[in-house]
Amino acid sequence: MALPDQPVDVVLVGGGIMSATLAALITTLEPTWRVEIHEVRPALAQESTNAWNNAGTGHAALCELNYTPEKPDGSIDISKAVTINEQFELSRELWNHLATANRLPGGEGFLSSTPHMTFVRGAANADYLRRRYETLRTHPLFDDIEFSTDPAQIAQWAPLLMVDRDGDEVVAATRSAVGTDVDFGRLTNAMVTDAVARGARLHLESEVTRLSQRRDGTWRLRIKDRRWNGHSRSRKVNARFVFIGAGGGALRLLQRSGIPEAKGFGGFPISGQFLRTTNPSIVAAHQAKVYGKAEVGAPPMSVPHLDARVVDGGSALMFGPYAGWSMKFLKNGSWTDLLRSVRPGNIVPMLAVGLKNLDLVKYLVGEVTANDADRLRTLRAFMPSAHPRDWELITAGQRVQVIKKDKKKGGVLEFGTELVTSADGSIAGLLGASPGASTAVATMLDLLERCFPDRSSTWHPRLRAMMPSLGGGEWDESFELDQLVDEVRSDR
Ligand SMILES: Cc1cc2nc3c(=O)[nH]c(=O)nc-3n(C[C@H](O)[C@H](O)[C@H](O)COP(=O)(O)OP(=O)(O)OC[C@H]3O[C@@H](n4cnc5c(N)ncnc54)[C@H](O)[C@@H]3O)c2cc1C
Repeated sequence: MALPDQPVDVVLVGGGIMSATLAALITTLEPTWRVEIHEVRPALAQESTNAWNNAGTGHAALCELNYTPEKPDGSIDISKAVTINEQFELSRELWNHLATANRLPGGEGFLSSTPHMTFVRGAANADYLRRRYETLRTHPLFDDIEFSTDPAQIAQWAPLLMVDRDGDEVVAATRSAVGTDVDFGRLTNAMVTDAVARGARLHLESEVTRLSQRRDGTWRLRIKDRRWNGHSRSRKVNARFVFIGAGGGALRLLQRSGIPEAKGFGGFPISGQFLRTTNPSIVAAHQAKVYGKAEVGAPPMSVPHLDARVVDGGSALMFGPYAGWSMKFLKNGSWTDLLRSVRPGNIVPMLAVGLKNLDLVKYLVGEVTANDADRLRTLRAFMPSAHPRDWELITAGQRVQVIKKDKKKGGVLEFGTELVTSADGSIAGLLGASPGASTAVATMLDLLERCFPDRSSTWHPRLRAMMPSLGGGEWDESFELDQLVDEVRSDR
């Protein structure tokens, strides 16, 4: 038995999809390591990872226009779409591997097959969509994509888009049959349950409040145990490696760690709402995820979309997100989060971003002041027959967009994710939210490579056996999946 002061090998802060993914990878690669997961809430996946707090899109760039920008010469740049698609493939391969090894529920447990569509209105948008389609379909990853400007065809793909629509309106759509909807909350619970079965320790209502590096390079974490009738108790845990997968709480903990790599980062919180219906006749009439085009100034993740969802085995439709603004960094966070994140090192980037993103500010003011009628109007642009009695408003997860230092501009606002790692590889934290949960596996593989370079040669063959497309290489015939599944079973 380990002594109380003896460091555990890995502490994962936060019980969302990122920590769950890292737990799955580490407990597979190093079954003897001591792994602890600390989650402040009484259950896992209560923040962005909760199925109703995100849109559940398996982002593979099959329908999201922000991954295929138009270049000044009118051609379409698909490089980001290819990267996202490849990253999502890694996620699918890991999930498939874990399901094959009976470590995750198979079938419809958390992943549903849902065609991904893009739908636009107006001649200019239809022309852009056609050019995007023509570029994408030449790439083998997107060769199943279909395009149509025919209202009858679009109505066949997604009837609700066309019912009650003005017959004179120019519309266009693309469709890819291989899209997915993911219940990331269910997936996270299943992955952590599996990690616990493999020896990881899960601590709920357990908040990491402070962390500091000791002389020997390990980390000392102060942890508040919140279970005792509202009175919290503190304890300390030492760790060789810490991952801060605390979502909106990550910036604060990274700042507290004192690592120079975290200096200059700030956060810009954007809240969101969705409309949801569980009316069976409406749900049955829409079996797709349909993404539209963002308004001028709207951040890329605020693109409206009408989604078929499968959450905890039940079906629903979701529309949104409607962006909003809140000073909180977590849905269950505090109104002081934003103010407390301001540091001498990030004040210039934060001010620069505030001054240089007036389009975004204008857009958010419009969204914050929107009422039920405005929201219905946005929904009806997608689904003209929508009736308010069928839809309820729900609050989505909180996103904290990354603000970064920039030599020329002072600071820039980023809509992606940023993995911050210390030079010695003993701590890492994840900031930002997009494309988020879908690419959790690629992000956590990046973390392993950056923080454990000395293990790379041992781990890589095992990782490739789990995820054949890893490294862009062909399937390594010398390492059979069945063999790995057997090994995994015998590790238990
Ligand atoms: C509106 C919206 C729509 C989205 N849509 C999609 C989508 O369609 N597809 C997609 O792939 N991604 C989507 N995302 C992004 C995706 O949800 C996130 O990228 C992902 O869930 C982040 O996972 P995480 O584990 O980093 O964070 P989280 O899920 O936020 O988990 C962090 C956890 O850390 C805990 N925590 C915080 N501080 C502490 C502490 N000090 N001690 C202990 N625990 C702590 C929190 O309680 C929380 O459980 C969306 C996000 C939002 C907000």
